[in-house]
Amino acid sequence: MRSVTRPGNGRRTARLRQFEQLLDVGAGGEQKAMTFMDWASRVPEPRSGPLDFDLFPFQRELYTEGVDDREIVVMKSTQVGVSAWASRWAMYHSDVHRRTGLYVFPTQDQVRDFSAARIKPAIDASEYLRGRQRNTDPSSKGLIGLGGGMVYFRGSQERRNLDSVDADYVVLDEYDMLAQENIPDAERRVSGPRSAGLIRRVGVPTVPGSGIAQLYEVSDRRQWHVKCEACNEWQTIDFFENVDQVRMIRVCCRCTKPLDMGKGEWVAEHPDRDTRGYHVTRLIAPSASIERIVKASKLRAPYEKQVFFNKDLGLAYAPEEGRLSKEALAAAQSAGGGYTIALGYAGGGVVTMGVDVASTRNLNVRVSEHLPDGERKKALWIGEAESFNDLGLLMERFGVNMCAIDHLPEGRLARAFAERFPGRVYLVSYDGTPNPKDSNVIKVDEEMRHARVRRVEAIDAMAEMLREQKNLLPMDLPEGYVEQMQANVRVASKDEMGKVTVAYRKVGGADDYAHAEVYDIVATEIYWLRQGIEEAEREVYRPLDDLLDFQRSRLADYDSGVDYHPGPADEPYDHREGY
Ligand SMILES: [Zn+2]
Repeated sequence: MRSVTRPGNGRRTARLRQFEQLLDVGAGGEQKAMTFMDWASRVPEPRSGPLDFDLFPFQRELYTEGVDDREIVVMKSTQVGVSAWASRWAMYHSDVHRRTGLYVFPTQDQVRDFSAARIKPAIDASEYLRGRQRNTDPSSKGLIGLGGGMVYFRGSQERRNLDSVDADYVVLDEYDMLAQENIPDAERRVSGPRSAGLIRRVGVPTVPGSGIAQLYEVSDRRQWHVKCEACNEWQTIDFFENVDQVRMIRVCCRCTKPLDMGKGEWVAEHPDRDTRGYHVTRLIAPSASIERIVKASKLRAPYEKQVFFNKDLGLAYAPEEGRLSKEALAAAQSAGGGYTIALGYAGGGVVTMGVDVASTRNLNVRVSEHLPDGERKKALWIGEAESFNDLGLLMERFGVNMCAIDHLPEGRLARAFAERFPGRVYLVSYDGTPNPKDSNVIKVDEEMRHARVRRVEAIDAMAEMLREQKNLLPMDLPEGYVEQMQANVRVASKDEMGKVTVAYRKVGGADDYAHAEVYDIVATEIYWLRQGIEEAEREVYRPLDDLLDFQRSRLADYDSGVDYHPGPADEPYDHREGY
């Protein structure tokens, strides 16, 4: 899978040359190459047949303009034919322009599914493509040879998968679901001097200010404008302005007469900008079921609202409750009574510490005193330590009973630190691929002094403690604390199989203090766990809920029939970036 030789001209078959003559393309023949539109008309969709611009009038421009633009961004809802467009665009450039391309999906599983469900049937359904395909098997190798070029299909999780391909173009599909830390690697594949350097980024948006929504924001921002035949008003199509929820039709925002989605054109809000950006919503497809969309708009569960905005309207959405508010943080300060950070602690309470490690010289720390009521805790110290040595001083000055520290990226130093304070320091990692049958939020390996905690539930618990004013904060919060605590937004979504996925997506800059706060909760759990189990089993499982009497976030109240699942299955994740 990793090293596939790029075939030279010597391997090109007589049959291929024959086709090239037929098409008037081939070595040096690009000046007469087929247009994308001509090519696409020979490649029907396996399920829906040939391109139909009556069904999808807004797609015409995608097939006729910007075909050779360096970059295009498409922020979309589902079922609008954009993935079909992107895969055709890729195959077209490989086939006709003899380019090597990299087509990136979030996971390797999706690569397999896409090859089996879309690429292979597309080739089988097209007599033209069958003649152009070289002897490669899309279902097993993630690679197809077409005409004079080839397309590599890759999952975003493994960097080395991406590094092995030098490409002329890259398509980043399901953009917000890609392993975000590997996107720069994928894009570097087209930065070489001989690369055509083409990039297509497409996907369903999630929360404002991140991912594809952010890219669309800085593009030329094209929207489909429709002309009302009755009053001549040109308008964009907005669910709240243009959908008549009684007649279940789209109407003019001015005269309320029915609108014809076919009578439209793409208009850029910022024509001066270089990159084309399209917002393709299901609302502009003439055949879209308005009834279905209206029905979806009336659903009230948080993930249902998220799905409606993201997948039906193709719009970014951040529920108010999905993010810690400045007000909640200020209230936690007021509840603390207006105190300031201490230099040390000599009281008799239980003291815990959470440490997020961004680098050896950037350790974000939260130290807590647990109040006698057994419910609340008070921040004794919040700030940055400049070394592991300084961390040791904090342990002593505050008489820390239990510390939980990030196991990455300085695992060796963190472990050495744990050895300096035997039984008082545990390493923590987030559990990204929990077994859905396993309800335990935290798992502690006593022997290894290592705890694994489920990311979504842990961040939920941290946010909930603050909202309920059980985590008291000082007046002199360090610089960046408030912003970092707000850097994650909780996003719930439901896939085609009905599986609900919840994840925290980072929308701001750093979020180190938020993780230090989470680790402080983990330290608390471990402390009480050790108190309770002096008979020391090797591995102990306890649900976080049993130990910490926090009220579950209302956001977590999914209907019981739903297969709740904190994060996409089988995907590793970066603890800073989320999924
Ligand atoms: Zn009108």
